[in-house]
Amino acid sequence: MALHEMKAPKSADAATDVFASALSERVLPKHRMPEEPNIPAVVYAMLHNELLLDGNSAQNLATFCTTWTDDEVRRLMDECLDKNMIDKDEYPQTAEIESRCVNILADLWNAPGSATGEGTAIGCSTTGSSEAAMLGGLALKWRWREKRRKEGKPTDRPNLVCGPVQICWDKFARYFDVELRQIPLEPGATGLRPHQLKEYVDENTIGVVAILGVTYTCDYEPVAELAAELDRIQQETGLDVPIHVDAASGGFVAPFLHRDLVWDFRLPRVSSINASGHKFGLAPLGVGWAVWRTADLLPEDLVFRVSYLGGDMPTFALNFSRPGGEIVAQYYNFLRLGRVGYRRVQEACALTAQYLAEQIAEMGPFTLLYDGQGGLPAVSYTLTDPEGAGFSLYDLSDQLRMRGWQVPSYPLPPDRQETVIQRVLIRHGIGRDEVDLLAQDIRRCLERLEKGVPSDADRAGFHH
Ligand SMILES: *Cc1c(COP(=O)(O)O)cnc(C)c1O
Repeated sequence: MALHEMKAPKSADAATDVFASALSERVLPKHRMPEEPNIPAVVYAMLHNELLLDGNSAQNLATFCTTWTDDEVRRLMDECLDKNMIDKDEYPQTAEIESRCVNILADLWNAPGSATGEGTAIGCSTTGSSEAAMLGGLALKWRWREKRRKEGKPTDRPNLVCGPVQICWDKFARYFDVELRQIPLEPGATGLRPHQLKEYVDENTIGVVAILGVTYTCDYEPVAELAAELDRIQQETGLDVPIHVDAASGGFVAPFLHRDLVWDFRLPRVSSINASGHKFGLAPLGVGWAVWRTADLLPEDLVFRVSYLGGDMPTFALNFSRPGGEIVAQYYNFLRLGRVGYRRVQEACALTAQYLAEQIAEMGPFTLLYDGQGGLPAVSYTLTDPEGAGFSLYDLSDQLRMRGWQVPSYPLPPDRQETVIQRVLIRHGIGRDEVDLLAQDIRRCLERLEKGVPSDADRAGFHH
């Protein structure tokens, strides 16, 4: 038999090396499922190596999401692999833990009466802030429609007023047939300014979204001032417009770092809040939260009842089956860190962000848009003279990528789309020294970019 006719053994044995096995000696099937099974260890090794191409999440300074976890979280996630959080009857303790998390968040966000257990806040877990935003938006739309119907007024043109929101709100508006009235950024602004509201709010406005931690720049929109402006609008026009706070990141930062900032249920106009457990909530990917100030703000006909220990359990969600581990991991973090622990973690991140901001400011070509103070632990900046710099922020992102750093560059939303910015997020797991190394690399990249692209001769060390 010619060598090329020899078939690889159908089932490799213990003696077969992972990289001398049937699967590893071929290009992996990409369009059709292979006919035969493969050895788990070989498949694992192939996928493990392929995934290295994704880059290193510890150097991903673009993401808000958790990239560092306690080993205990990994163990709990493993133990919860088979738990479907929607089966409240089969996994009543997971359901109980979800409910504890909602209560803890209602208390953290100062829902009336929550600390004493007498509160009437209501909420649920989701897959992230996107699903939570959809639920928050749906509740606003239902309430507005109910009120309009009672008044005998048309209900066909709802709108939602907001500033530079994350894409999930565009999705909400499109999927659920609501006009998104996105207010353009004023010159020099990074978020919605209260005085802009009156031109956009009308009788068809289902609510205003205020962002605690603007995705682009990482500072907070002034929720209390926006609420005060809506109070004024109500006095003048009678329009009573509720606020939903998109606190995807800030919901887990402000209660620890900015305790005097009033942005949450302390403001009567705030009817609901969403946050991402998997961002500064420190839980692994796949969990978010939505909380309403009181049960009446969540219309009954949006809530479905599932059987739960012979009773019934209200659920409000876009998804059905979903893993329970992230919820358990969220509760683990609440117990593990406590308020003091969360404060220390977020404070360490904020101080590191401020350290980076000082470095960035010293480098020369940059103007800080956000210096890591008063909002999320992050830094955002732009080129002071984009025309004269001789390079773009995109070039700098590319250069940094060569060392593995992922630092995104992108334009601000309208009307500031001509301003390109760069943003660095400091999360749990990113230490001061790592950020110092990043600053050194930025300096080196700047030197290289300012010199321009070297010729082959320059690189080889020849001089004319
Ligand atoms: C990340 C983010 C979202 C979306 O949250 P996911 O948890 O990724 O679904 C929504 N709004 C803001 C302000 C965000 O930062």
